[in-house]
Amino acid sequence: MAEERLQKILAQAGLGSRRACETLIVAGRVTVDGRVVTELGTQADPATADVRVDGEPLHAQRLRYVMLHKPAGYLSGMDPRAGYPSWEELVKVPERLFVVGRLDHDSEGLLLLTNDGALAQRLLHPKHEHPKIYLVQVEGVPNERKIRRLQHGVMLDDGPTAPAKVELLATPPLGFGKPKSQQMGSGGPGEPPVRRRPTRWLKVTLYEGRKRQLRRMTALLGHEALRVIRISIGPLALGELRPGKWRDLAPGEVRALRDAAYGGHPPELDAASTERKTKLLLPNTIAIDGPSASGKSTIGARLAKDLGYLYLDTGVMYRAVAAVVMARGVSVSDEAAVTTLAEQVELQVLPATIADGRDVTVLADGADISWDIRKPAIERAVSPVSAYRGVRQAMVLQQRRIALDGRAVMVGRDIGTVVLPDADLKIYLDAALQVRAERRYRERLARGEQAILDQVLVELRRRDEIDSQRQHSPLAAAPDAIVIDSTNLSIDEVMAFVRQLLQRWTQTHQRH
Ligand code: C5P
Repeated sequence: MAEERLQKILAQAGLGSRRACETLIVAGRVTVDGRVVTELGTQADPATADVRVDGEPLHAQRLRYVMLHKPAGYLSGMDPRAGYPSWEELVKVPERLFVVGRLDHDSEGLLLLTNDGALAQRLLHPKHEHPKIYLVQVEGVPNERKIRRLQHGVMLDDGPTAPAKVELLATPPLGFGKPKSQQMGSGGPGEPPVRRRPTRWLKVTLYEGRKRQLRRMTALLGHEALRVIRISIGPLALGELRPGKWRDLAPGEVRALRDAAYGGHPPELDAASTERKTKLLLPNTIAIDGPSASGKSTIGARLAKDLGYLYLDTGVMYRAVAAVVMARGVSVSDEAAVTTLAEQVELQVLPATIADGRDVTVLADGADISWDIRKPAIERAVSPVSAYRGVRQAMVLQQRRIALDGRAVMVGRDIGTVVLPDADLKIYLDAALQVRAERRYRERLARGEQAILDQVLVELRRRDEIDSQRQHSPLAAAPDAIVIDSTNLSIDEVMAFVRQLLQRWTQTHQRH
């Protein structure tokens, strides 16, 4: 029998996003075989369990994926303002669809609607925000310097924007050429002729989505946005669809979306399908812990890539908190202030958005701190900062949320012991201090930084001590972790060993 998480079963039955379904569970509105279930990790077999919401049995709805060309003036969000109709007036289907990624009421273009809560959540999750492309018609002619500023990020009142791709188009895009002012007929017969500034079109790729972001970004540089049209979300393109029209996605488009959302791997093995028997069963969550420079990140990233899983290096999150603490001038020893910062800062760990040698892009309240977190000053501050209970609680909460969908490789110090104690496969990577210090030393030199081996060794020893002696979630191998000592192994040799572990896990868990 194939058990699945209850929130997943509910989302698949069309009851909303997984997050929304979790709220139903916590509120005590869900029963499984007559028993109220409020615990989020609870599993059930959707084929046999009697799952009800408010006493009503679930009727599995067919999953539906719709693209709408939203015209300006329609609402896509949940804030019904008087006077604006909603997208629901344009798309009439029996399924309860919800919007994946809203558009402002005066923006136009591709709106994705579905009742596939699992996919929606995956697509919306900031950790793997998918690129969205917009055509933006602006007043005036932005010069190259302004285009560059938009690209690198500008400071908005809710924080700096993340790096974006911005291209000034030489000609208006086909089909969208008419400026808004002409459409609305201003300067028409009887009215005095209006002297308008020229307009230009930009093609902008964003990796984040904040309220009225493009309008605020261009306005800041003195170029009011007249039209904002979304033309793609990840692999999905608006194409020729006319304003106000909608269509179901083609199977190939759904597949492409799922591939993008799940890194090329299907999200689940369909319980009802006979194919299941022949499919390889893989550990759903993999925890890799170990001291600094033991090779965790390299191995974790490779493994995630092999499996098409999501990869999260949790050390990056603690480093980001330390970087924010330093940047704001907060004293590392001020536990209360550090904790408040950790609770309030909005962290995003994304795949590298700029090809400058970084492993990941790390944004703190929208600011790109991907390189700051690798600085020696942060290396010194990070262990004291991450020893605080409140800091850990804030990070663990986010990390668990990220792993909720499974298919994740998570790397850190306490993944197997605290963050994901139920991880399917746990690995503890270790190596002699001297060897680890040499690795870190070479890494620094390769990055063009100055380093002294003895100093690196002393710093690593100090971090090891704090990390493994701290009161809260000290670094330790989980009792069920497989320990690999990589002192005398190359990365390839460790990887070969990890692949064997995976194979063994599959053989032991394979169902027939
Ligand atoms: O792995 P990395 O060296 O990037 O981690 C930086 C620091 O973050 C560690 O020395 C540790 O203090 C902290 N950390 C932690 N728990 C984790 C991951 C990292 O306390 N799960």
